[in-house]
Amino acid sequence: QRAKSEHAFVSFYRHGMDEQHLRQLTILEQLQQACDGNELKLLLQPKIDCQTGKTIGAEALLRWHSQVLGFVGPDEFIPLAEQSGLIKQLTRWVCETALEIIQSLTLRDGAFSLSVNLSAVDLLSDEILRLFDDLKQLQSDIHQYLILEVTESAIVTDPEAAISRLNWLRERGFRVSIDDYGTGYSSLAQMRNLPVNELKIDRAFVQPLANSVVDQSIVRSTIQLAHELNLSVVAEGVEDESSWRLLQQQGCDVLQGFYFSKPIAVAEFKQRLEDEANEN
Ligand code: C2E
Ligand code: MG
Ligand code: MG
Ligand code: MG
Repeated sequence: QRAKSEHAFVSFYRHGMDEQHLRQLTILEQLQQACDGNELKLLLQPKIDCQTGKTIGAEALLRWHSQVLGFVGPDEFIPLAEQSGLIKQLTRWVCETALEIIQSLTLRDGAFSLSVNLSAVDLLSDEILRLFDDLKQLQSDIHQYLILEVTESAIVTDPEAAISRLNWLRERGFRVSIDDYGTGYSSLAQMRNLPVNELKIDRAFVQPLANSVVDQSIVRSTIQLAHELNLSVVAEGVEDESSWRLLQQQGCDVLQGFYFSKPIAVAEFKQRLEDEANEN
């Protein structure tokens, strides 16, 4: 009798709850179980040398295929993972998997780098320091191969706390990149005080490049200023050849975008490196 009424309550509650809230709860519930890595994988999106067109590394992008929910995109589950704190476990899985990928690449040279995305929550906790200490224990020169991408908003939440952890990471040799640059509120003048090595121009400015004189000006001046601050510049969202040529003229360093490649499986990425090596 009791079980029955509880069931009725649950079912009432579930129907009374709006659909989106229910989906979020289910995602959190399922993601908790996915954190051990079973349903997760990393895809790699090639990073391209702007001048030569050659692959010089990749960005690791998280994918989750849930038994229950099917494919769920990072734009949906990452924000929920951040709110719930699960992101710290996800970040650990991503970084440890990235290390394994780096170790398994036979064709990488000294210039090769793999970028991983850190979230604001990661920068607000000392867990991140333990994680990168652990990675160094596993491979003492891992800092030469990893680039840590953080967004402007990750720093804005609590600049002092974020900057001190970024400094800690930099002291250990890791490179830091500002992701989605131009969509936050910080100016390049503020950037100057951040312990970063690289700036990634958001695809909002890069996608329309070929047809927008205004975006061309924004990108050109961003590249110039970044270079004056000794920052390397990556353009994300390069979708056509004319954007590539414009970025080349403007002296951009590294490109990412569907024109070169979508995010691909690790095996496919390795094949790509091999094919390029055989071209010479
Ligand atoms: P992001 O770090 O800015 O990653 C770039 C996103 O742009 C990726 O989407 C990529 O597939 C997409 N992209 C790349 N080139 C092009 C292009 O030419 N055109 C278009 N339209 N899109 C392009 P994805 O993989 O869906 O990831 C979305 C966001 O989710 C990422 O943005 C990042 O903020 C977050 N994310 C993904 N993986 C992780 C992760 O492991 N940890 C954390 N904290 N966040 C992650
Ligand atoms: Mg990124
Ligand atoms: Mg980005
Ligand atoms: Mg983004």
